[in-house]
Order: sequence, then C-alpha cells, then structure tokens
Amino acid sequence: MFGAVVVGLGVAGSVRIRDMLAPLPGSAAEKLTIKGFISRRSMGPQQGVEQVSVSDALNRDDISVAFVCTENEAHEETVRQFLEAGKHVCVEYPMTLNYKAAVELWDLAEKNGVILQEEHIELFTADYKWLKEKVEGQRLQEGALHFTGGSLKPRFGFLAFSGIARLTWLVELFGWLSVNKATIEEDPNNNYSKMTAHLLTKDNRSLTWIEERGPGLPRAKNINFKFDSFTLTELPPPASRGAVGLFMQDLVLFGAKLAGQVSLEELQREKRRVLHCLSLEDKQTRTTHGRR
Ligand code: NAD
Repeated sequence: MFGAVVVGLGVAGSVRIRDMLAPLPGSAAEKLTIKGFISRRSMGPQQGVEQVSVSDALNRDDISVAFVCTENEAHEETVRQFLEAGKHVCVEYPMTLNYKAAVELWDLAEKNGVILQEEHIELFTADYKWLKEKVEGQRLQEGALHFTGGSLKPRFGFLAFSGIARLTWLVELFGWLSVNKATIEEDPNNNYSKMTAHLLTKDNRSLTWIEERGPGLPRAKNINFKFDSFTLTELPPPASRGAVGLFMQDLVLFGAKLAGQVSLEELQREKRRVLHCLSLEDKQTRTTHGRR
C-alpha cells in the first residue's frame, strides 16, 4: 500500500480525497490510502481525514505519495520538495509554468527512482475518445480549436499553460506540433484575455488554437477540423457521465504506475508528450509576453 497526502484542498484536492476513500473496487486505485492533507489554513478533519504539516508529510515513512492540487503557480516548488524527499508525486496539470522546470523535475524523479505523473483527465473524456476515433487514419488539411471559458483565476498562470488540456488534445490527435506565431489580446480591467496560436503539424498543416476567457463566456469548445473527405465542426452532445469518474480513471492509472503495471515505454511516451506540450506553451508565452 502507498500512503498519500493531498496538498491543496480546493476542488481537485477534495475529489482526490473522496476518490482515495472509495477507490474503484478491484482497480490499482486501491493501492493508495489517504493519510492526511496539507493546507495553508488550519482546518479540522475533512471527509474524516486529518491535516498534517509539510514537514510531517516529507518525513513520515508511512507517507510515500503526494498529490499536488494547489493553484498552478505553486506546483513547481511543492513537487520539487516531495521528489527531493523521495516521494512519488501526482500533480494536477500543468505540472509547471515553464518547460525547463518540468525537465528538472522529471530528472529528479528518475534520479530518485520515483513516479511523477501529470494528471490528464481530458484524455479520459467521452469527447476526446469520440474525436480520437474519428481522426484515426485521417489526413488533416487544416484545423481550429477555439475554447471559451470564464475569467482565469489568479495564480493559474498564462493562458497557454492553463489551456494545457486543449493543447494535449491537439498533440494526441495530430502529432508533434510547432509554433508558427502566437498573439494575445488582453483587457485586464475587464478580466478578459484571448490567445491565438498558429501551430503547424509535422507535414506543415495549419492548426489554430484559441483560448478566450472573460466574465460570462460559456465554457465551450468549438472545433473545425478539415480532412481530405470530411469536416468535423461539432463535438457530440454531452454523453451521460460514465460509471467511472475522470479523476478516478487518473487515480487508477497512477496506482498502476506505482504497482509497476505500466511499461517503461508507456511511461517514456507520456513524459515526452507532457514535455512537448510544455515546450510549446513556453514558446507561445515567450512570443506573447516576451518572457525569457
Ligand atoms: P482551487 O482554487 O479550488 O484549489 C486550490 C487550493 O490550493 C486552494 O484551496 C488553495 O488554498 C490551496 N493552496 C494553494 N497553495 C497551497 C500551498 N502551498 N499549500 C497548501 N494549499 C495550497 O483550484 P482547483 O480547481 O482545485 O485546481 C487546482 C489544480 O487542479 C490546478 O492545477 C488545476 O489546473 C487542476 N485541475 C483542476 C480541475 C478541476 O476540475 N477543478 C480539473 C483538472 C485539473
């Protein structure tokens, strides 16, 4: 069994605790047992689970796993602390807010012989699975994915990073990408921002990725993917929720990694994809904000 702590008790952290308290029967999620949570506030038990201090979590032998569920800005430092202490880490996406730090963290995990996972619930969604089936074996001519949603919460980073779920879709559907051009429109007084990234596939097909956020914008994805013989312009209507929740599926995958049930080849493939996405986001952010 792997004793775990959850760091950050917001939406994602609370779901992590809930799922570890009632893991999918017969699945690798049963390998995990919740030992405590870490919060900056002093709190009583949550879902029957006690608060622990950071130093306790880092030093206790019965705690070997950390789930990092804080706002994006705090991921890097927290993940590093736990990896340095020899703990396995599952961090909510995006792992970090720059590519270089993610490479360092992965090196650290490998040096210490522990598992590092970046959660990717968007790859478990019915929409993604539907698209993946449609796109399989097709040749893209050009495409666009336009995401809209409410204003970004503070401490969640630039649009390119907070939109990692959309970029991961594009990479998993169309292969390795490069950034041709990226622009940003921002109206801080109205909490509005829009990034437009012009991406290219390996065979130079154009993919436009737009992240647009502002007060009152509906949470929606609009697609337009043109293939040789057909065009996809709509995602299917929302499917009824599957029997197994998205975070639970992610937990099962993490448990399987801890139990040594995932091949090295698969672990390496996932690592390459995560780092590729973060490198694209880094490039887009440097282009739009002149960062580093
Ligand atoms: P949230 O704002 O609800 O929760 C973040 C929590 O972390 C807050 O309670 C905050 O007080 C706490 N926190 C911040 N820094 C901390 C620290 N140093 N120590 C302890 N606690 C700390 O946000 P959320 O929606 O739960 O998102 C958290 C992470 O999960 C983000 O990285 C997000 O991208 C990811 N995520 C969320 C969802 C979702 O459905 N909410 C889905 C996928 C991924």
